[in-house]
Amino acid sequence: MLLSRFPRVSLAHLPTPLEHLPRLSKHLGGPDIYVKRDDCTGLGTGGNKTRKLEFLMADAQKHNADVIITQGAVQSNHARQTAAAAAKLGMDCELIFEKRVSDPADAYVNSGNVLLGRMFGANIRDVEKGTDMNAEMESTASDLRAKNRTPYIIPGGGSNTIGALGYVDCALETLGQANRAGLVFDHMVHATGSAGTQAGLIVGLKSSCANIPLLGIGVNAAKDAQEEKVYKLAVETAEFVGAPGIVSREDVVANCDYVGDGYGLATDGMNEAVMLLARLEGLLFDPVYSGKGLAGMIDLIKTGYFEDTKSIVFIHTGGSAGLFGYSDILKT
Ligand SMILES: *Cc1c(COP(=O)(O)O)cnc(C)c1O
Repeated sequence: MLLSRFPRVSLAHLPTPLEHLPRLSKHLGGPDIYVKRDDCTGLGTGGNKTRKLEFLMADAQKHNADVIITQGAVQSNHARQTAAAAAKLGMDCELIFEKRVSDPADAYVNSGNVLLGRMFGANIRDVEKGTDMNAEMESTASDLRAKNRTPYIIPGGGSNTIGALGYVDCALETLGQANRAGLVFDHMVHATGSAGTQAGLIVGLKSSCANIPLLGIGVNAAKDAQEEKVYKLAVETAEFVGAPGIVSREDVVANCDYVGDGYGLATDGMNEAVMLLARLEGLLFDPVYSGKGLAGMIDLIKTGYFEDTKSIVFIHTGGSAGLFGYSDILKT
């Protein structure tokens, strides 16, 4: 697969490291656990959206955009990385935040990703929970066009075929590292939300005939809805890269048993997982995505799902800036 066919700007520190977690592996007494450090992509404290933005921002430049519009939850990592990318490329940035959490703490609305988004110079607007976010972005775009601006809309999470290319690339990069290091991975695990990460990884793995099953741990939707969303985007992404038909429905597996009370709401498992990794490996995960993904992986190891698995690679999608927005609910 030749991703250099697609317009791309350099935003991420690549390749990200692939590291063994010996203390966590020993502690859990299950498979050997490796972590792909996509928390270290480098842009504005990093995370998985930076890989997607390399392709999305190139497309924005192709369309002569001078202002980027995107949306997310108040503590959106995607919005923060988009604001940083826009700053770096000399574009303005409009962030529309859906107030998904009721009764938020002061830190939630002012610290973490929100603070960084403001520092990157983004214009931030909050809307009520349940707002049609795509319609909001469209109306912001028409207002800007009326002022002779050229807006470019990036969907929530950067999850469309263009953004998913970033995770096709991550799959290829990880396989290259495994090949060079002589590592065999029996399973790949990560947190799945707006679907671009999982869809891209599936296309990258399938196109390389890697034969590594991929498990997305859901943070929002129920299993069927999540899998359908990922499947649809994976099929479209496969077509987009010129490999139609390589993705089958069975390739898409999500476990959505670790969402808890809802998107962005803390669970005990998340709290324990985030503290465990901090104390055993000096690694930071986040309360909304990677922490819940990790909680799922740890519980599935303990309950035997990975019984015949010798090694797992966990794709660390980042999000540690969000820790500061959730300081009140983290049980240190
Ligand atoms: C957005 C995000 C995810 C989920 O990725 P999707 O492509 O939206 O499924 C996982 N982890 C972190 C930290 C994120 O910010």
